[in-house]
Amino acid sequence: MKVELQNLTKIFPSRSKKQGEEVVAVNNFTFAIPDGKLVGLLGPSGCGKSTTLYMISGLQKPSSGKIFFGDEDVTDLAPESRGIGLVFQNYALYPHMTVKQNIMFPLQNLKGEDRLPKEVMIERAYEAAKLVQIDELMDRKPSELSGGQQQRVAIARALVKMPRVLLLDEPLSNLDARLRLQTREEIRRIQKETGITTVFVTHDQEEAMSISDIIVVMKLGVVQQIGKPQEVYDDPKNLFVAKFLGTPPINVFEGKVSGGKLYLGEDAVLDVPGVSDRAVYVGIRPEAFIPMSDGPLQCEISNVEVMGRDVSVVSKHVASINPFVRSIVDADNKISVSDEFVRFYLKPHKVFLFDKETEQRLYFGNQKPASIEEM
Ligand code: ADP
Ligand code: MG
Repeated sequence: MKVELQNLTKIFPSRSKKQGEEVVAVNNFTFAIPDGKLVGLLGPSGCGKSTTLYMISGLQKPSSGKIFFGDEDVTDLAPESRGIGLVFQNYALYPHMTVKQNIMFPLQNLKGEDRLPKEVMIERAYEAAKLVQIDELMDRKPSELSGGQQQRVAIARALVKMPRVLLLDEPLSNLDARLRLQTREEIRRIQKETGITTVFVTHDQEEAMSISDIIVVMKLGVVQQIGKPQEVYDDPKNLFVAKFLGTPPINVFEGKVSGGKLYLGEDAVLDVPGVSDRAVYVGIRPEAFIPMSDGPLQCEISNVEVMGRDVSVVSKHVASINPFVRSIVDADNKISVSDEFVRFYLKPHKVFLFDKETEQRLYFGNQKPASIEEM
């Protein structure tokens, strides 16, 4: 089921007269989620992810804009008529019911013509439970399950009505690190198996990158960039997106472009043809640095962290905005903490320039904007 958001906007009135300002939680969000894809809605806390999800679900009414499921305008449709499955961060299972009863609950609520015979309900509950691999636990109460198992029950409950669209709001946040990883792989598998169009909300960039066909990066209610995870990582449109994606995070410098060359401090570190003379922010991915004794960028070594195949060189540079510059280089380079300085060449496609005022990307050489076609 294709899900289309058209100029979707949500404005919350101010809570008190004194506080004044209304909150534009979601601002003019337009995007068509292709049928059968998993879209990761990503951004810091308060950027409007949940509000977007609640509008798709019908739990909140948009201030303006429209929502389509396929060709059907669902903007004014009640949540229960939309054919959605919802999963929240806290599992919200009924404690007095067994797993089976919890999963069957949405089916038991169906009225009139939609009501299914009891055997069919049980069959459906087992199918959903099998999908999330909890069919052995059907007679337990939620208190007898681990967090990960409880979240699987919640997912099974969302799947049992065979939703047209699956909506997940930070579903892994309450799980410990190992379970989080396992459950996210599980969600991905289930989504692929069922082909249900899915929106997955998270503030965790790594989670979004690893699970999504498409990511949508939001900031203060405004969509910043939409694309395949790798494309957005490789070609961020602005400084915010560049900083939000990647571990370790991108290194940011203050720089200057003059005569087609990029200067960090006094040193011309890279040719940047096509950018006019100006002050810039420079984002350099940790994997951009190539250690070479004649490299143009000199950094003062603070630490070398061994990671096996690679080493992380922690260093200082006067133009760096962060206290340290983090580079990930091949361990064969034999860089040592006892060396005072290290010199680097930079891989041009891992270096991003941003206008100092607008923080929008400036493309140089053969860099070009990521496209969202062919999704
Ligand atoms: P996220 O899920 O990305 O953390 P939300 O969608 O929950 O963000 O919130 C977006 C913005 O809208 C925040 O500034 C939040 O305080 C505000 N907001 C959310 N719900 C309400 C509400 N019911 N009333 C007023 N403001 C709200
Ligand atoms: Mg939220």
